[in-house]
Amino acid sequence: MVDFQLDEMQEMLRELAQEFARDEIRPHAEHWDEESVYPKETIQLAHEMGLLNLHIPEEYGGPGLGCMEEVLVNEELAWGDPGFATAAYATALACAPIITGATEAQKNIWLRKVAEEGALASYAVTEPGAGSDVAAIQTTAVREGDEYVINGSKMWITGAGYADFFFVLAKTDPDAGYRGMSGFIVESNADGLSLGKKETNMGQRCSDTRSITFNNVRVPANQLVGESESGGWMNAMSAFDLSRPNIAAHATGLARAAYEYALQYSNERQTFGKPLHKHQAIQFMLADMKTNIEASRMLTWKSAADADAGIKNTESAAHAKRFAADTAMQVSTDAVQVYGGYGYSEEYPVARLMRGAKVMQIYEGSSQVQRMIIGREITKNL
Ligand SMILES: Cc1cc2nc3c(=O)[nH]c(=O)nc-3n(C[C@H](O)[C@H](O)[C@H](O)COP(=O)(O)OP(=O)(O)OC[C@H]3O[C@@H](n4cnc5c(N)ncnc54)[C@H](O)[C@@H]3O)c2cc1C
Repeated sequence: MVDFQLDEMQEMLRELAQEFARDEIRPHAEHWDEESVYPKETIQLAHEMGLLNLHIPEEYGGPGLGCMEEVLVNEELAWGDPGFATAAYATALACAPIITGATEAQKNIWLRKVAEEGALASYAVTEPGAGSDVAAIQTTAVREGDEYVINGSKMWITGAGYADFFFVLAKTDPDAGYRGMSGFIVESNADGLSLGKKETNMGQRCSDTRSITFNNVRVPANQLVGESESGGWMNAMSAFDLSRPNIAAHATGLARAAYEYALQYSNERQTFGKPLHKHQAIQFMLADMKTNIEASRMLTWKSAADADAGIKNTESAAHAKRFAADTAMQVSTDAVQVYGGYGYSEEYPVARLMRGAKVMQIYEGSSQVQRMIIGREITKNL
């Protein structure tokens, strides 16, 4: 039997996240975006209320909840504001490869720092010359005694300016391609680590995005993630199986917010003697928005349910992420259209949502990369 009903605990969690989004995020979203304010206190409050880092297992101080609970919460947070959702999710993304690949001792240190002390972390993989093509990264880590020496630079790292530590992907065997990559935990106060200025992005401006430069950064050898070198690539990539359902949930939440604003406005604005929604062209636009939002949520829940059931969800997560991100872009663009000239003004929230949607088709694997993943999965046994 397929049951689309949430259980009591899931409903309560969703309601808690919805209240938080309504009371703590929405009232500030415009200001955060306009002034590029990083919402640190609100992120801390969300953590204290048990709305962040839900997948950290109980044995390391976390809530130990599933991907399904995470996507429920993340849809609501992004409904509140997509920039807040991205900023708040950076730590969970950095924790994903630690959960899947770190040793017990490492999990006890780093996951506890997040779960119990509210530490922030960032996932540092992309480089100036390597985004979609992760295998082309150039950052190196060379073993010297009990340390690794890291050199290179990372680009577009969400939350970098506020992170206490980073998950960093580097080459430990540059001749071995993706098999020669390792993950490291690097503290943000390490000597030789420097941050670029906050990028001025098109949207989601409250989220902090920066470059990081590693100039002979020395890291204790026990901060190599896992027991041995070379597992870095698999570890960094498998993190996406956990994170992409959540990015899809963010996209669903953004699209839902844009649709709700458009629906409400279509009832307030009159043209040719009747409310906008009485014109079939507008009503069909609203109908398509709603269908695609429902489909985004179903694909998101499916990919999360797969993850929780231990079913490999690389393909279902790619379906969800691709479809939901493209839907967020389309729905928010159509919401601006429903608002007409007012939609083009920053006075109304739909412009901010449209700007915020674009990056969802780019980060965590672009829409083209998701199609590459799906294409690879569906043709691999031909
Ligand atoms: C706001 C923001 C936050 C980010 N946060 C993080 C973060 O926290 N950590 C992190 O590591 N990275 C982060 N990123 C980086 C992000 O993951 C990359 O930007 C993304 O993977 C795309 O890489 P790129 O920008 O180098 O584009 P490129 O890889 O240069 O691609 C350019 C375009 O070509 C397309 N393309 C590339 N290759 C192909 C192909 N083979 N076939 C068809 N089309 C192709 C892409 O889809 C894209 O549209 C962030 C980026 C942004 C903008």
